[in-house]
Amino acid sequence: MRVLIAGLMAALLSACASMETPVAKPEWTLLIHGGAGVMRRAEMTAEMDAAYRAGLDEALAAGSKVLAGGGDALDAVQAAVLVLEDNPNFNAGRGAVLTREGVAELDASIMDGRDRKAGAVAQVRTVKNPIRMARYVMEKTDRVMFAGPDVDEMAAKAGLEIVPPEYFITPRRLEALKRAMAGTFEPMDRYGTVGAVAMDAKGNLAAATSTGGMNAKPPGRVGDSPIIGAGTYADNASCAVSATGDGEYFIRASVARMICARVQMQGMSAAAAAQATLDEVKALGGTGGVIVLSHDGSVALSMNTEGMFRGRVDSTGRKEVGIYTDE
Ligand code: ASP
Repeated sequence: MRVLIAGLMAALLSACASMETPVAKPEWTLLIHGGAGVMRRAEMTAEMDAAYRAGLDEALAAGSKVLAGGGDALDAVQAAVLVLEDNPNFNAGRGAVLTREGVAELDASIMDGRDRKAGAVAQVRTVKNPIRMARYVMEKTDRVMFAGPDVDEMAAKAGLEIVPPEYFITPRRLEALKRAMAGTFEPMDRYGTVGAVAMDAKGNLAAATSTGGMNAKPPGRVGDSPIIGAGTYADNASCAVSATGDGEYFIRASVARMICARVQMQGMSAAAAAQATLDEVKALGGTGGVIVLSHDGSVALSMNTEGMFRGRVDSTGRKEVGIYTDE
């Protein structure tokens, strides 16, 4: 009898614990990432930790200003990514990792969930903010993706801000390149791609991603970040995704599109779809993370690495930034 009562009590308690308090869906939401990888507290100085968190805060502030003012998800993700491109600590825009030959070759993409219009650029060498050029490709051309020196030329003609290639190079990334070439690779040298996904007050989704790619990559190598469906995807009918990690694996697993397909066709939550897809990446041998915002308002900031620079803000006043897995 005692066993029976104890059993009933336990069942009742666990039923209560799993009952979620219904929370109103926020009017708008913004998620950002600043790259995933091996991030250990022991290897991060207090200054670096604070600098990364401040950078994430600044990007959240820029994006949420757009959303709180009734602006579009598309403008919000661009605003957040612009801040991170300009921040030398992240691997996008200034402070990007360098190719084996010591040059920054930048990739970026953006997608509008309203009509699945998309724009992407690869191997950019002189456009100060590659995400602006991705947006330009989306809005001002009939194409989706441009790569190589022609992108820089098109950007100059379009009146976008052009900078000398040295603008992107920071002492930290030069050191990281030297280490990679000498075979003394440090985990923190590699990552820092940036991305954002948002849902605006009209319920529209958008996603954007920008990167320098992988430290010491061979010139000409392009990863997942500018590939629509791999590093970036947005569709109001399913979800918005921005990815970061070992690009080759993210391309092979069509990560961003696969997550949205799972949401749309299998009715999965953002977190379940992200987990299932990251498990696939892991099975192939890849590591990384994703930020996902589903049309139903469910969110995921998931990784199969030891950390991911990330942040979240919404209209309810909720605001968080994190670095390590256990945060
Ligand atoms: N996914 C990027 C690439 O492969 C790198 C990263 O996210 O760290 O180019």
